[in-house]
Amino acid sequence: MVKFNLMVKADLEQISEVYPNDNFDWVVKVKCTGCNTDSEKWHDINEKNEITSDSKNKGTFHFSFKCKFCSRVGYLAISHEGAKKLTAEEKNFVPLIAFDCRGLEPIDFQPAVGWVAVSDEGTKFQDVSLADGEWCDYDEALGSPVGIYNIEHKFTRV
Ligand SMILES: [Zn+2]
Repeated sequence: MVKFNLMVKADLEQISEVYPNDNFDWVVKVKCTGCNTDSEKWHDINEKNEITSDSKNKGTFHFSFKCKFCSRVGYLAISHEGAKKLTAEEKNFVPLIAFDCRGLEPIDFQPAVGWVAVSDEGTKFQDVSLADGEWCDYDEALGSPVGIYNIEHKFTRV
């Protein structure tokens, strides 16, 4: 298994922390490491979707992918080991989640929907969408606008 961290950073305006909700869909593109072919499709990977792999690849995974070209099947398991929230203090990339991969690797990510953002005043915004790469709202308790901007991501091999 090869482990990849999804590293994310963003500029937070009056927001103390940002994290994925309990039913988060990780929208990713993958490539087959058997033949090095990128898949064109985006895949929604949800931790609630547990799959058991075949006899050769024992374990529980959250996503499987059959390569169109070489027909090999790759597997991915979501791992919270080392995962952190995005916080206002952290200006660098943080590991938001990790993927344990076999036969595939993640190559791209869409922030999409399902984020929780907590303002400096403690107001919790549920189901925040970062599909446009940013988000803004108004926090009544704080009496000021809040937002998430300039979201960037990359995958690093652990
Ligand atoms: Zn392949």
